[in-house]
Amino acid sequence: MASPTLKLNSGYDMPQVGFGLWKVDNAVCADTVYNAIKAGYRLFDGACDYGNEKECGEGVARAIKDGLVKREDLFIVSKLWQTFHDEDKVEPITRRQLADWQIDYFDLFLVHFPAALEYVDPSVRYPPGWFYDGKSEVRWSKTTTLQQTWGAMERLVDKGLARSIGVSNYQAQSVYDALIYARIKPATLQIEHHPYLQQPDLVSLAQTEGIVVTAYSSFGPTGFMELDMPRAKSVAPLMDSPVIKALADKHRRTPAQVLLRWATQRGIAVIPKTSRPEVMAQNLDNTSFDLDSEDLAKIADMDLNIRFNKPTNYFSANKLY
Ligand code: NAD
Repeated sequence: MASPTLKLNSGYDMPQVGFGLWKVDNAVCADTVYNAIKAGYRLFDGACDYGNEKECGEGVARAIKDGLVKREDLFIVSKLWQTFHDEDKVEPITRRQLADWQIDYFDLFLVHFPAALEYVDPSVRYPPGWFYDGKSEVRWSKTTTLQQTWGAMERLVDKGLARSIGVSNYQAQSVYDALIYARIKPATLQIEHHPYLQQPDLVSLAQTEGIVVTAYSSFGPTGFMELDMPRAKSVAPLMDSPVIKALADKHRRTPAQVLLRWATQRGIAVIPKTSRPEVMAQNLDNTSFDLDSEDLAKIADMDLNIRFNKPTNYFSANKLY
């Protein structure tokens, strides 16, 4: 099963169904990437912050060495962490991330969050995370604007280190601003998007401006349960929702496939994560059926406007949750 592709405004084709790499343990990461390639995934969504780019690179290198794929068959996505927003820090950290992946260009490189943190030298701590001292102190940068960071991202394209560039976790105003100052338009906007957080106006704004939307955390609270996040436990898992289960029965699919199809059918890319090969195949196979307008209306009614991936959810009494 191969994923359909979406055309980016940079001219490149991006697989619509990819594989997410957040919270993939270092110990199993190389095998997970290898197995996902075997299952048919071609897009991998990584980040400096996930702390597993070396292992991702090992999985990719092994798959290429074994003849499963060539580099050009893959679409590798990574992200700029917030401590590297200063103009002179963007290229060096991108080169380090590329070296970890054992590749010489990213297909897509994203600004991870629209807020700069003070620089932390990688020799002090890598990945740096949110806290300046590694324990408790968040230090917002008082000097670097998103426009300056975007200029440095554009230079990555000029130098061939990234084929396309995009943004993540931007809301409407930061997207509008970027459209004013960008020499190279963001190709994608990656956002939290599931039936409990639908953000219809933001999705419509991006799509109208020719920016492809990628949904992350398509299963809503499930991915955040792994972090023991109280907010995630405060709502019912989406896969247990009577509405989603009824639609899964109606279309003879799984609740996960319904949740993914709800996004892909509306032109949105998805990047689900799992370590189980049989589930990898199931998630990849979400584009061979259609929900009808009644089904879509039922899911539209489920919006709670509840956000799990909010920076302040991670800063409580110096505890990550
Ligand atoms: P997700 O929504 O993909 O959910 C993952 C959880 O669902 C795991 O516990 C997994 O075991 C379970 N699961 C997966 N497939 C299943 C299936 N078919 N049936 C039952 N359970 C299933 O979670 P996520 O990791 O939060 O998001 C996916 C990816 O999005 C991440 O790995 C990352 O690449 C990206 N992401 C980006 C940002 C960002 O700030 N840009 C933030 C969060 C996630």
